Amino acid sequence: MALMITDECINCDVCEPECPNEAISMGEEYYVIAPDKCTECVGHFDTPQCVQVCPVECIPINPAHVETQEQLMTKYRQLLGLDKTAPEAPPAAPAA
Ligand code: SF4
Ligand code: SF4
Repeated sequence: MALMITDECINCDVCEPECPNEAISMGEEYYVIAPDKCTECVGHFDTPQCVQVCPVECIPINPAHVETQEQLMTKYRQLLGLDKTAPEAPPAAPAA
């Protein structure tokens, strides 16, 4: 799942530089997370870095962007340009 920032955000600026995917940016009133860039930090860190640093705990899961760990890893690879085509390549079939 991607995460999201709620209107409890106090615009303290600490999460934005912590995001390895540059998914966080200033919105109209407070910071926002681009769902297509947020991997929940999968591929980079064990825990979401923005959640770790947020002083007001205003970064929950975005219910509109529910994704599995595999989908998040695929997104991570696509963001890095490692996987431009199919999601996970199927394992090679053994030679008959
Ligand atoms: Fe960025 Fe990770 Fe937070 Fe998603 S969970 S916005 S990838 S820091
Ligand atoms: Fe807002 Fe939390 Fe990010 Fe600070 S760390 S800008 S309060 S979301």
